[in-house]
Amino acid sequence: MKNLKSLLEESNLKITPQRLAILKELDNKGHASIEEIYETIKEMFPSISLATIYKNINSLKDEGIISEICLHQKPKYELQKEPHAHFICQKCGYVEDVPFSEIMDKNIEKKYPNSQKELYIYGICAKCKEK
Ligand SMILES: [Zn+2]
Ligand SMILES: [Zn+2]
Repeated sequence: MKNLKSLLEESNLKITPQRLAILKELDNKGHASIEEIYETIKEMFPSISLATIYKNINSLKDEGIISEICLHQKPKYELQKEPHAHFICQKCGYVEDVPFSEIMDKNIEKKYPNSQKELYIYGICAKCKEK
């Protein structure tokens, strides 16, 4: 498991149990919306508000610890990783990471260093296809 605490230690943010819980949730789920994070976190911190989650998400985003995936409706968040594409199921909203190397030239990082790379593939996931 990733050392989530060190992500905060290396940033300008204070280490708080709430922030750690948000990171842990994203580490577990891979991708989660603010509402999904809130559902889990409020079981641990019953007094926490949705607004507090928003604030924490935004500061974690500003520090580059997590990134926002702009889905059509609701953004989801994930821990910062190598640039990659996302497959999004149009039926159930399932999100899957797709390495850029699987879909395009591996030189993309050389061609566009340090740029924000986003690519979304919309379709129907295997589970929904079975139905
Ligand atoms: Zn699906
Ligand atoms: Zn992702």
